[in-house]
Amino acid sequence: MMPKNTNENSLLANAQASFDKAARMLNLDPNIYAILRSNERALTVSLPVEMDDGHVEVFTGYRAQHTTARGPGKGGIRYHLAVTQEEVTALAQLMTWKCSLVNVPFSGAKGGVSVDPRKLSENELRRLTRRYTYAISPIIGPNTDIPAPDMNTDEKTMTWITDTYSMIKGESSGEIVTGKPVSLGGSVGRVNATGLGVAIAAKQALLRNDYDLDNCTAVVQGFGNVGTWSARHIADRGLKIIAVSDISGGYYNPKGLNIEKMIAYVKQSESRALEGYSASGVDSISNDDLLCLPCDVLVPAAMENQIHLDNANEIQAKFVVEGANGPTTPGADAILNERGVIVVPDILANAGGVVVSYFEWVQGREGFYWTADEVKDRLHRFMEVAFNDMYDFSLKRRVSLRDSAMMLAVQRVAEAIALRGVFP
Ligand code: GLU
Repeated sequence: MMPKNTNENSLLANAQASFDKAARMLNLDPNIYAILRSNERALTVSLPVEMDDGHVEVFTGYRAQHTTARGPGKGGIRYHLAVTQEEVTALAQLMTWKCSLVNVPFSGAKGGVSVDPRKLSENELRRLTRRYTYAISPIIGPNTDIPAPDMNTDEKTMTWITDTYSMIKGESSGEIVTGKPVSLGGSVGRVNATGLGVAIAAKQALLRNDYDLDNCTAVVQGFGNVGTWSARHIADRGLKIIAVSDISGGYYNPKGLNIEKMIAYVKQSESRALEGYSASGVDSISNDDLLCLPCDVLVPAAMENQIHLDNANEIQAKFVVEGANGPTTPGADAILNERGVIVVPDILANAGGVVVSYFEWVQGREGFYWTADEVKDRLHRFMEVAFNDMYDFSLKRRVSLRDSAMMLAVQRVAEAIALRGVFP
């Protein structure tokens, strides 16, 4: 079921509409509005890569920087066929609001390559990543713009970027990215940080509404890094995970799924997916039906635009906690609000990743590393403060959590711009 309204599907139009709304409600200075309405810098690069059979394939890569008002640009790099300049532009804007809301001293950036990474060998992916790093190297840097993992990129990708950038600079430049392996200067707790943040956000939302966690159920759409770690950490908090899905489809057991067993299954399976998974009491279910299951918490942790005009009325969850970026279209968001479904917006719900990215960057600059408990405790603190600020402001102003989150985030960036003034 795809949304009928194609405009509803434009991540950039949606990001800008949500900024426009916050700006209106804040009565934002028109000069600051004009500055933040457009992106500071965008680069499109052509990437010739020698494939294993000797022929050359040319890919297109992007890096977008929305603003540098509150610090260097920060944001992931995704490998996906749907990556376009427009998509990374929108995602860079979301990163600005996310970093501002959780109060880490970064601004928004995002990058990606239009490629289906499953069709490339590891050597081809390595050559593509090195060429992409080289091509965007003039605009990234530990004080300029710091990439990180995103959809279909991981520690290995970050290692290749670190090495390539270090070779170009002729020095060890670990702080060029976050999400590195711990043995290369990464932070403990980075790999599960987004999922842990989702679970912290879900717990806070339930507690603020007097739910008993041990009697709650959750559904997770997506079983990649964010989905698996969200499911694990949500289950750790006492909720029963009754359904999960990935590209192979959905798996449903009203009595609760064994998430550890499912993760182990994916690890050893050739397709790196849940395809073929079976266990007693587990039924298969379509992705569309999974989203509409009765449950307390629904975590869309796959792609954008999953909850849209055609299924928003069917969603039976009490809470939607957005693990993915932009999983709910604005029309669907309005319907959910109207129906009393509480939506914890992406810029808060999935901010755990960038918070621990910040910790990694700080540790790298100091050359002094924290323990797993220090990382976990500080992540809890950042997420809980941001959640409560957003929640209290939404009560005070009688607005949705998304509007509240955006208003707080925009206000902080606007303050920085007002203080700095306009160059020259
Ligand atoms: N890609 C993640 C996000 O969308 C993490 C970004 C980062 O750590 O810089 O938030």
